[in-house]
Amino acid sequence: MKSITRQKPLEEITKQLEGIERLYLVGCGTCATMTKTGGKDEVLAMKERLQGAGKMITGWTVIPTACDTMTEASLAENNGAIQSADCFLVMSCALGVQKIASYNGKPAIPALDTLFIGVEDSPGLFHEVCDQCGHCVLGYTAGICPITACHKGLLNGPCGGTNNGKCEVDKNRDCAWTLIYDRLKAQGRLDLMKKYQPPRNSQIAPRPRVTRVA
Ligand code: SF4
Ligand code: SF4
Repeated sequence: MKSITRQKPLEEITKQLEGIERLYLVGCGTCATMTKTGGKDEVLAMKERLQGAGKMITGWTVIPTACDTMTEASLAENNGAIQSADCFLVMSCALGVQKIASYNGKPAIPALDTLFIGVEDSPGLFHEVCDQCGHCVLGYTAGICPITACHKGLLNGPCGGTNNGKCEVDKNRDCAWTLIYDRLKAQGRLDLMKKYQPPRNSQIAPRPRVTRVA
């Protein structure tokens, strides 16, 4: 399971950096390396591009996992170069950006957009598996998430546009509710297709979302 990210266009990155000259680059050795958005190669390429745009790079690092508790220790090893920078440019998912933003008060500017939580189907191809909706219905849908797998995010499907198992919105994609039907049928649990799922209740986990583990 990975945070799937996409690099922002250089134009947007430099717009965020208006008035900022000295940067420290941070990549992530886990998800952003796997998606080729913030691993060592991408950090070094970004360094070149920003230097070409007139920025000074005081240093760079690729933290093993930018979102975890070891981030501070990893950054502490590079404090000299970090102190002489005006900000961090972070090439990780938004979790890493937020972690680094709390490190020493220097701004943390995201170089990536965080798209979704996904899994890798084949090298370089990822798909979303969970929208963290706060009320999981996988127990009724044969382990297939209708929110992320169905084009319309239908909790009660199919929509009626299913055609030979393909989705009416994108004919190249399987209809999620056909997949759910087929798997429930194989499990002898087709009665679950008739179970009504109430609309998503955003009050289950109102924002800001917080939970305490006892
Ligand atoms: S129903 Fe889908 S989006 Fe909601 S928690 Fe389950 S897998 Fe995630
Ligand atoms: S055809 Fe299937 S996947 Fe597409 S929107 Fe309708 S129920 Fe969802």
